[in-house]
Amino acid sequence: MNLFVANWKMNMTQAQARAYARELSQLLEKGSPAGELVIAPPYTALAAARDPAAKKRWSLAAQDVSSETEGAFTGEISARMLADAGCQYVLVGHSERRHLFGEEETVLGRKLARAREAGLTPIYCVGETEQERAAGLTAATLSRQVEALSRDPENSPLVVAYEPVWAIGTGIAAEPSDAASARVQLAELLSHRRGLRILYGGSVAPENASRLLETAGVDGLLIGAASLKASTFAAIAGIRTGRRRTGSRKR
Ligand code: PEP
Repeated sequence: MNLFVANWKMNMTQAQARAYARELSQLLEKGSPAGELVIAPPYTALAAARDPAAKKRWSLAAQDVSSETEGAFTGEISARMLADAGCQYVLVGHSERRHLFGEEETVLGRKLARAREAGLTPIYCVGETEQERAAGLTAATLSRQVEALSRDPENSPLVVAYEPVWAIGTGIAAEPSDAASARVQLAELLSHRRGLRILYGGSVAPENASRLLETAGVDGLLIGAASLKASTFAAIAGIRTGRRRTGSRKR
């Protein structure tokens, strides 16, 4: 089943999260999504982002997790706390964590381990920078980044999100054929895994979602900016409410 993950990043107060959840809930009364929905709010809005109808029509993901279990780590949030707060998933290695906060494979491997100990399913993000792409290093970058998964239990469900750094927040999504090549490479690198889902992320919008899903052959989408409006997230996730998906409008 396709997976649609809304990454709110550092946006949304509790009141805004509640209003979003109410709106998404109303949209889901009118139509069904074309897959599973996950919302990744900031920690402070996790409770407010729950399905208000208590129907669990979407799951919660955290945007990050501590590499430590518990103790004197001021400011950190443990995997156990996230599970206790209702998370089922956690993003690990998002490009903003890698590039703005210097997270590398060693620490990411520890975060993956903490997530598993708490029963969370990781959404492990990988992707090359513009420079790596220009230098023909996309495949080498992805191979290096999946090394953090070497100790992750291979029979546990895993989500890997291919998010080329140059496509995140730029309005320039990857060509579906490029996303397809990355998907094929990741599927080969992780062919020993059971329950693997490979997502694409990077400037996904209602206009390009169908093409990315169909042509790139990915198992879902990780959506940043376009997920900040419930109606846009719903359109990307294919929730039919009587209106056509923007991308399929006749011109
Ligand atoms: C992201 O944050 O993972 C992302 C893909 O952002 P955007 O959709 O805004 O490019």
